[in-house]
Amino acid sequence: MGEFTIIACRACGYRSGRIRWGVGCDDPRARFLPAHCPSCAAFVEVDLTGRDVLNEKFTCPDCGSVVAFTEHVDHFECPRCQSHDISLSQDGYW
Ligand SMILES: [Zn+2]
Ligand SMILES: [Zn+2]
Repeated sequence: MGEFTIIACRACGYRSGRIRWGVGCDDPRARFLPAHCPSCAAFVEVDLTGRDVLNEKFTCPDCGSVVAFTEHVDHFECPRCQSHDISLSQDGYW
């Protein structure tokens, strides 16, 4: 089951949109992850469905720049102010 997650920064007040994270409820093949887009200075949702996370490059759905995944939640960094004081909140399932 996937969750909608909102990534927020306690230092500057940045908030992402609702980002799908995990594997789909209805379609377990569907897979999404949050990624950091340096051009948008934002966390964005990236569709990993049927793709090879380790060997492919992934791009921002908004601007097409190459995005970076953060492997460990503790290492999430605010795309606006680079603070590590990040909170994750869950906002339903998809
Ligand atoms: Zn921040
Ligand atoms: Zn972007």
